[in-house]
Amino acid sequence: MKRLYLLGYPLGHSVSPAMQNAALRACGLDGWQYETWARPREQLEAALQTVRAADCAGANVTIPHKQAVIPFLDGLSETAQPIGAVNTLYKRDGLLLGENTDGAGFMQALREQGVDPRDCCAFIFGAGGAAAAVAFALARAGARQLVLVNRTAGRAAELADRLHAACPSLALAVNWWAPWPRADLIVNATAIGMTPATNASPLPAGREIPRGALVFDLVYNPLETRLMQQARRAGARAAGGLDMLVYQGARAFELWTGRPAPVEVMRAAALAALAEVRP
Ligand code: NAP
Repeated sequence: MKRLYLLGYPLGHSVSPAMQNAALRACGLDGWQYETWARPREQLEAALQTVRAADCAGANVTIPHKQAVIPFLDGLSETAQPIGAVNTLYKRDGLLLGENTDGAGFMQALREQGVDPRDCCAFIFGAGGAAAAVAFALARAGARQLVLVNRTAGRAAELADRLHAACPSLALAVNWWAPWPRADLIVNATAIGMTPATNASPLPAGREIPRGALVFDLVYNPLETRLMQQARRAGARAAGGLDMLVYQGARAFELWTGRPAPVEVMRAAALAALAEVRP
């Protein structure tokens, strides 16, 4: 038996077990099993000893351990290093390594929307782990300007400092609204709009979404968020977080198993799991 874990605390309903187990079965990896494993912070170090055991192939890490887990690892990927948060643990040559697949998942979903991130001006709502993954992915792909808008401005300023250190030519602003009409891309990387608070939107009252923009909501439950509806009403395009969820999971699957991920199987399993929890 090879085990994979989803490590977090507390763990509510997650789509990942359905998505990853469907992928394992589709690839004939019948001896593999993906399981949720809720462990509080004080048991994290011991939990990682279990992840290091031979019968474990790796793990996903979720809130609140995405940063706390890093001191217990043997190294980080080039992608995860500047983000300072990991969502995937995998093994190479006896080492336990941390990766962040959110940015790659986001970029794949973004490109499928026909958006070329080079020279784009993006507004990002949020400054947590997902916002950092998206911001670094856009910066690396050649974005021209990023505006970080967050409830806790200091957290956005700290992320802007880290982005500036990695990409000095990138134009950065924090909680700055003046150039809003120039936005090509608006990303919601906050929890605002998630079930059950589906009437909420991160868009401040009185702000119009530019017609030519793509609004990308990382929230995937509900599949169609209030922000996406606001975007469509404004004549802009809108994308939800499901594709990113599938692609970040697919990258993790490939790191663990060394096999191409059955993306369509994963998407169908994610949709079925979401339908179960929808009110
Ligand atoms: P996180 O590190 O905990 O960050 C949460 C962010 O949301 C922070 O910027 C926080 O602002 C903001 N926020 C939360 N509640 C808020 C509220 N009521 N009003 C204003 N701001 C609020 O979480 P994360 O890992 O970055 O995840 C953020 C979102 O992305 C979640 O909805 C998650 O489900 C989604 N996500 C989706 C995918 C995908 O594959 N589609 C992947 C990863 C994450 P403060 O800094 O002020 O607290």
